[in-house]
Amino acid sequence: MAKQFDNFIAGEWVKGAGYQPNINPSDTSDIVGDFARARVEQAHDAIAAASGAAMDWGLASPQVRSDALRKAGDEILGRKDEVGYLLSREEGKTLAEGIGETARAAQVFHFFSGEALRLSGETLPSVRPGISVETSREPVGVIGLITPWNFPIAIPAWKIAPALAFGNTVVFKPAESAPACGWVLADILSRAGLPDGVFNLVMGKGSEVGDAIIHHPGVGGVSFTGSVKTGGLVRDAAGGHGARVQLEMGGKNPLVVLDDADLDIAVDCAVQGAFYSTGQRCTASSRLIVTKGIHDAFVAGVIAAMKKLKVGNAVDPKTQIGPVVDASQLNQDMSYIELGQKEGATLAMGGERLELETKGFYLSPALFTDSANDMRINREEIFGPVASVIRVKDYDEALNIANDTAFGLSAGICTQSLKYASDFKRKSQAGMVMVNLPTAGVDYHVPFGGRKRSSYGSREQGAYAREFYTIVKTAYTRPS
Ligand code: ADP
Repeated sequence: MAKQFDNFIAGEWVKGAGYQPNINPSDTSDIVGDFARARVEQAHDAIAAASGAAMDWGLASPQVRSDALRKAGDEILGRKDEVGYLLSREEGKTLAEGIGETARAAQVFHFFSGEALRLSGETLPSVRPGISVETSREPVGVIGLITPWNFPIAIPAWKIAPALAFGNTVVFKPAESAPACGWVLADILSRAGLPDGVFNLVMGKGSEVGDAIIHHPGVGGVSFTGSVKTGGLVRDAAGGHGARVQLEMGGKNPLVVLDDADLDIAVDCAVQGAFYSTGQRCTASSRLIVTKGIHDAFVAGVIAAMKKLKVGNAVDPKTQIGPVVDASQLNQDMSYIELGQKEGATLAMGGERLELETKGFYLSPALFTDSANDMRINREEIFGPVASVIRVKDYDEALNIANDTAFGLSAGICTQSLKYASDFKRKSQAGMVMVNLPTAGVDYHVPFGGRKRSSYGSREQGAYAREFYTIVKTAYTRPS
């Protein structure tokens, strides 16, 4: 039997109602561990513990909070190779990506260790004589955090760290298909010096544990990353009882390639943005919008680069593209690959199920050409290593098509023209714009988020994180 991993509630490790195996997508005979499935009452216990701890933690010295986050960050960084390996084993991204993501999580904890000390307010003169006005930021209270499987350590880190830095208590539910990194974070935080109840981990099904968190009136805020569909449920349920809500959902991110682009840079941006991390990133470039003068050379360049990509077991250091996360995601990817062909796009490369040494969910990255922006493959998020080329006549058409989408997370342009780069930065209807860079790949100290159906609520990460994790108080004083 695989090792069992428990929930962490009120400072104690607590058994689940049952356990769910966490299967390695690179080798389905490898069970990473059996992870607790919490009962709904255990989610309620965690919320009660977090509520009980909220007042003292909210009033604790920022030094205490800063020290705890630094300690956690130090341990994550010190163990980045081991935890990164675990990440690759449970999620399927390559070892370099897994270790890199783990180091990123540590940097996020270190960043917010500093931010805990930097909360500031304002003092203003009142419009009434003899009165002063000051603003300060206070914690929200209990924050529910619900995260997806695709960044199993970085996304939890960039929600947990600011929540704790600013004095909130946390009930955290990682994705059921990749809970191991979330469990490791809980284990590390259990030794970081947090009072009991400040941080709680409840694992299990979204429709049970997640549902219990978003509906509970004791939860003052929910930060969620996942699908548009579940995001809507979170907004309605948590918003319905007055909790603040922050949602990061899908993307259908365009990468515009203009005739004057540096071809090598454009190809590299497309291949990295579309296929690395197996395309399982909400910032992945799924629509490659290419002007006609460079179209053929660009497509040839991307196909040549794709032919060299090594798809394989995530923990093999030579692998560049790991497996898809699980069977249902693989089926979804395959069905979109079939759909694209039915819709009239040309499958120019890849899209094949691969049988490798170990039994896993391997798929060769797929490129469609001759695709139109109104095809479903260009409207719906596939969330796999699948990208389509849309040929356009000029920059204006490229910009229109880039913005013609329900989503607005990240948008990129490859050009050597300052004029077009500047125009695109201004007119792109996305939360993040990249010039001569892949649409995926962001810094941790600046805001992250999108527009339209991609995001809801205030930005995550960097100094902007305080908008969600604090409430502003305005205090008036008349010296008596
Ligand atoms: P993905 O396609 O990334 O799995 P989901 O939106 O299904 O996206 O899952 C993201 C997170 O939301 C996971 O932690 C999942 O367990 C949780 N979740 C799923 N359904 C619900 C729900 N009904 N209520 C709350 N959380 C949910």
